[in-house]
Amino acid sequence: MISDIYERSLDGKISREDALSLVKSNPFELFDTANQLRQEIVGDTVTFVVNRNIDITDHCIIECGFCSFRDHIGYEMTIEEILGSIQEAKEVGVTEVCIFGGVLPHMTVDYYLDLLTSIKSNYDIKIHGLSPVEVYHAAKSSEISIKEALSAFKNAGLDTMTGAAAEVLVDSVREQICPNKVSTDQWVDIITQAHQLGIPTTSTIMYGTVETWEDRIDHLFILRDIQRQTGGFTEFVPLTFLNENNILGNSSKGASGMDDLKLHALARIVFGKDLPNIQASWIKMGTKMAQIVLCCGANDLGGTMMEDKISVAAGASHGEYLSREEMALIIKDIGRVPAERDTLYNLI
Ligand code: SF4
Repeated sequence: MISDIYERSLDGKISREDALSLVKSNPFELFDTANQLRQEIVGDTVTFVVNRNIDITDHCIIECGFCSFRDHIGYEMTIEEILGSIQEAKEVGVTEVCIFGGVLPHMTVDYYLDLLTSIKSNYDIKIHGLSPVEVYHAAKSSEISIKEALSAFKNAGLDTMTGAAAEVLVDSVREQICPNKVSTDQWVDIITQAHQLGIPTTSTIMYGTVETWEDRIDHLFILRDIQRQTGGFTEFVPLTFLNENNILGNSSKGASGMDDLKLHALARIVFGKDLPNIQASWIKMGTKMAQIVLCCGANDLGGTMMEDKISVAAGASHGEYLSREEMALIIKDIGRVPAERDTLYNLI
């Protein structure tokens, strides 16, 4: 069966049944097929972005069961402190700043507009930030529509939005791991509206808790359908669950290394030409595992980061910063060609 998968992936004809069969097939054939598709679709270049993550607060009202970040330190940055972090980032040539953080009642649309305009009036830098859960709560507390909130964020300088808060887009899973978060339909609606307003987003999955392979596959097909409708996803970023300092970690140790590889390979095959960029998250898996993932279908090594309090709180021990030179060495070591990119995958 795997023999005709290559052509069917390129033709955009992979079905859910195909995907489930692939999970049960010989994994090395799966990895090899995904790697060949990667070469056909995006070639041997492995991209990365020189960015800085800024986690603006670890306070949050949402209470996700997999979250280790909430109140881990107990802080909220002022706009001046955020600008100070961006100044440091500019000094090392960062092109993108990623704004993450918890959800709080005072984080209204006006709060984010202040933040976005302060950044844009001080720095020439791309702003990647706000996920559907933050957009939802900001719009709700400001009593305006999602569309009005998104338009205001775009006009204030939001360049791209994160596809975080997707976790697994199956409501029965969400009820167990993040019952207070936006539903699957709400996530899809906010992301689709963002794309329609000209705000590209990433797409993600946070896997390795309670979900089944069927759930993961449903998630991939929801993303593929959105991409076919809007073309607004820049990349797919699988985020493996890290199990320290969170409630779900008591019952789940996270995905195995084999499942990490299978998920990236399967994403390459399901997405085919629809969504060509698949990221290997070195900060979640470590650089050695990221190298192997890059040989099983992925083509992007993510960002230099500078900090990631979210992953560190959950037990990630792979460091928080890689220089351009270190990124390039990791990529060359597997016989591929490193290339710095911007947020939208334009090569720099
Ligand atoms: S994962 Fe995000 S939304 Fe959920 S509790 Fe943690 S910070 Fe809040």
